[in-house]
Amino acid sequence: MGIPIIRTVAELRSIVAVWRRDGLKVAVVPTMGALHEGHLSLVRAGLAKADRVIVTLFVNPKQFNSPADLIAYPRTEYDDAAKLAPLGAHILYAPDAADIYPQGFATTVSVSGVSAGLCGTFRPGHFDGVATVVTKLFLETGADMGFFGEKDFQQLHVVRRLVGDLDIPIKIVACPTVREGDGLAMSSRNARLSAPERRAAPRLAEILFETARRLNCEDCIDRVLDEARQAILAAGFSQVEYLELRTGEDLAVIAIPNRPARLLVAAWLGQTRLIDNAEVWSRGSVQGFVQAAAAA
Ligand code: AMP
Repeated sequence: MGIPIIRTVAELRSIVAVWRRDGLKVAVVPTMGALHEGHLSLVRAGLAKADRVIVTLFVNPKQFNSPADLIAYPRTEYDDAAKLAPLGAHILYAPDAADIYPQGFATTVSVSGVSAGLCGTFRPGHFDGVATVVTKLFLETGADMGFFGEKDFQQLHVVRRLVGDLDIPIKIVACPTVREGDGLAMSSRNARLSAPERRAAPRLAEILFETARRLNCEDCIDRVLDEARQAILAAGFSQVEYLELRTGEDLAVIAIPNRPARLLVAAWLGQTRLIDNAEVWSRGSVQGFVQAAAAA
């Protein structure tokens, strides 16, 4: 049997109200569709913790800072529904933009601090768009738990912050990044890579993890990061937007990884912008590397 596709908030609320009356725990997995194993890992995690899982599919125009990127974003609702049904997800909530942002919509949820820097610098307005739609999806679904990928590490922090600040009664659960067999972090945007770009793309993760391992020194950080930027360019990427060390807990800038930290990167390969991140510990160990095969 297929997964029910719900288009309106009224319909969604009436279904969730029945679940709530029955005392069921509800999870939400927000996505923009073009589902891959990374998304499906969140759905599985949701199914393991909650009684009902709502997957949302909304290509949110407010979080695209480039109109061309919005137009080019893959839209594969039929295939997405077919991938979700066998997992046992309960609802695919796929509202129209006109329902999410009706005429006269004038509210923006803006999270300062963790939204600044990294993707916030290179994608102006992006996190306002994310925060606004995620807030709406939390309020519309009334979910007890929300599942997010560490792949979008800064987004995860933005969501945690807004939930805390606005007292939204939802628990945010972070799930590790799922990767292709060659290490490339899965992303809906990977489909846009040409064959030669796809061959070059895994170098980003390789360099990221290698660099994270090399950051266990106090006086070499700048040099190691610089060498990594050069290596990414040498691998065929045209631009490194950022390669930065931050604290894992609150994304604060740190000069040396003297506490649990993350190394975050964004780089352009042809017309495609790829992001990734790796955990860095002061003792130099690196975690968070989950192969697609292990998650399947
Ligand atoms: P998106 O459809 O790109 O907006 O992503 C929806 C959710 O899936 C977000 O919480 C992402 O962090 C998560 N996600 C995307 N790619 C991956 C991945 N490779 N591994 C784990 N989670 C992912």
